[in-house]
Amino acid sequence: MYPLLLIRYGELSLKGRNRKTFEDLLLTNIRSRLMGVPHGPVTKTFGRIYLETRGNWEELVARLQSVFGIVSVSPVLRRDLDLEAIQEGASLVIQDSQGSTFKVETRRPNKAFPLTSPEISHALGDHILRNFPHLTVDVHNPDLILHVELRKEGAFLYSKIIPCLGGLPAGSSGKGLLLLSGGIDSPVAGFLAMKRGVRIEGLHFYSYPFTSERSKEKVVELAALLAPYNARGSLRLWIAYFTEIQKALQKSSFPTLSITLMRRFMLRIAAKLAQREKALALITGDSLGQVASQTMESIHVINAVTSEPIYRPLIGLDKQEIINLAMKIGTYETSILPYDDCCTVFVPKNPATRPRLEQVLAAEAELDLEGLVQEALEKTELLEVNRKG
Ligand code: ATP
Ligand code: MG
Repeated sequence: MYPLLLIRYGELSLKGRNRKTFEDLLLTNIRSRLMGVPHGPVTKTFGRIYLETRGNWEELVARLQSVFGIVSVSPVLRRDLDLEAIQEGASLVIQDSQGSTFKVETRRPNKAFPLTSPEISHALGDHILRNFPHLTVDVHNPDLILHVELRKEGAFLYSKIIPCLGGLPAGSSGKGLLLLSGGIDSPVAGFLAMKRGVRIEGLHFYSYPFTSERSKEKVVELAALLAPYNARGSLRLWIAYFTEIQKALQKSSFPTLSITLMRRFMLRIAAKLAQREKALALITGDSLGQVASQTMESIHVINAVTSEPIYRPLIGLDKQEIINLAMKIGTYETSILPYDDCCTVFVPKNPATRPRLEQVLAAEAELDLEGLVQEALEKTELLEVNRKG
């Protein structure tokens, strides 16, 4: 029944002269998110975006709910600038709304309309009371608000305001490289980075045959689940060859440090790739104290290999909070599929929770650091992952 969606966006207004770039990016992200679903033009006027539906507003809203930068969406009815037509439209919107108390809120940017805003609200209120005997007016705390806007192009009516993700359009802040494992945490970290405008690329360290082909497919699947939130609805996923490093670490005479050493390798490779691909930050799913490699001491020692900024959006979240987010964004079910990742395969019995830098450096002196990092980078492949649905 609704031929139009009104799309509201928020924080962009804070960005001063960057505003136009932000709006254009939001429009691009919206258009690419709507691909494959029938829809009409998407247009921008006076700080809002209108999208013409094709009788499928619910399907379109479902897509818009994964686009960062959109604060809320309202399905809107349009009528000619004629009181009777507006009253008829108001009845339809009210029929489609829940509640037993209401009020009418009118805005009249188009001053050519003969009635004032209070007069219109009054006329519509009377009309609704006459036609819907179960409804009463409550101007302070109504169950539903009928919004009426009189514009040059016509009268717009709506009552539903559907909350969306908010945040900044993905890509508006810059590019970041997400260290994506097959676990619960890193996809959520990627989601939160995208929420603040980061366009993410994924980097997965793959240790075939220590980890199965299936574990890689799982990560590709997670990337596909993150793609709808990313700029242009797709995500580049780098698969780094980690097998030789795992082999070298297995031979190390410092088994309790293997996770620390592995993480340092990951960051070295990630930092090099970020520099090459002009990403401005690395992003990981670390949460403070969650496992041995995420104590303050471990993070300190692991972090020491690079001066690239590392974003850890989950640092202050409890596991349950992370799980709740993973469920909300749709990655949880895939994350818990039981395929080994490199860390579960190689985790030592007593991983060091307080690794000492001198020891770590001694362990690394046994290894051909440069050569191993170089080889992993040379054998890194790129996959273009598109969203599913
Ligand atoms: P996750 O659920 O994201 O796997 P986790 O609690 O299992 O997290 P760790 O295994 O300690 O934590 O990994 C910490 C972070 O290191 C991950 O969130 C991820 O960013 C990165 N990481 C771990 N393993 C890999 C991998 N194989 N490829 C890419 N990044 C990885
Ligand atoms: Mg993990």
